[in-house]
Amino acid sequence: PEPGSVLLEAKAVRKQFGGLVAVNDVGFTIRAGDIMGLIGPNGAGKSTTFNLVSGVLPLTSGEVVFRGQNVAGLPSRAIARLGMSRTFQHVKMIPEMTVLENVALGGYLRTSSGVARAMLRLDRDEERRLFAEAEKQLARIGMAGQMHELAGNLALGPQRLMEIARALCTDPSLLLLDEPAAGLRLKEKQALADVLRQLKREGLSILLVEHDMDFVMGLVDHIVVMEFGTKLIAGTPAEVQASPVVRAAYLGT
Ligand code: ADP
Ligand code: MG
Repeated sequence: PEPGSVLLEAKAVRKQFGGLVAVNDVGFTIRAGDIMGLIGPNGAGKSTTFNLVSGVLPLTSGEVVFRGQNVAGLPSRAIARLGMSRTFQHVKMIPEMTVLENVALGGYLRTSSGVARAMLRLDRDEERRLFAEAEKQLARIGMAGQMHELAGNLALGPQRLMEIARALCTDPSLLLLDEPAAGLRLKEKQALADVLRQLKREGLSILLVEHDMDFVMGLVDHIVVMEFGTKLIAGTPAEVQASPVVRAAYLGT
């Protein structure tokens, strides 16, 4: 996608769980090459919005237009094929397998009952292709040296990076990250921020749900602040930090 062009547009996205309006007609735009942060207090509707955009949850109403196509209602696999890829808040891995194996077989680990089954179903060429891609993406984010370590032996920071490498294997133009900095030590957060900046330089766009304000403010181009299911304000980090509504509703608490 052309840098600066509209990559994703959420239009009046709505989700009701029974009588509860978890996401109340929220709209925002992500432009190619931007990192967008989605922040707000607990229960604001961030994760639900994230799941609506990535096709994990069906919308009550509204549209999610990704690369010119309304993807609302498409299965998440189909959305992934169009170039949107996501990580989950909790690291999904098989600790007894190597980092490389976890990244290469990631798609299969999520969708089938076990690795053995996945391996049986893969032909030689497909397996080679998956491992070559995994190796490439691990090298891309600086993890070539840890490729053959057992995933379970990694600290949380490198585990999160491993998840990002896995998400990159489908060659996305938009990467969705659910609280990637949660629980990380300062050094790990810095390493993660460096990787995300590098991916941005390489032309990737990123949507980041995050609690850690310092992490968000230093990294993103735009922020959407949610509260009680609605969009409170959107703008640059400087605009959001200066906003009295945000200071009162969020930063002040
Ligand atoms: P956030 O990620 O900002 O903390 P969520 O999107 O997880 O907020 O939740 C928004 C609101 O929707 C909360 O009140 C939450 O309890 C509710 N909610 C989220 N998922 C469900 C669900 N599957 N069923 C019913 N209510 C839900
Ligand atoms: Mg959440």
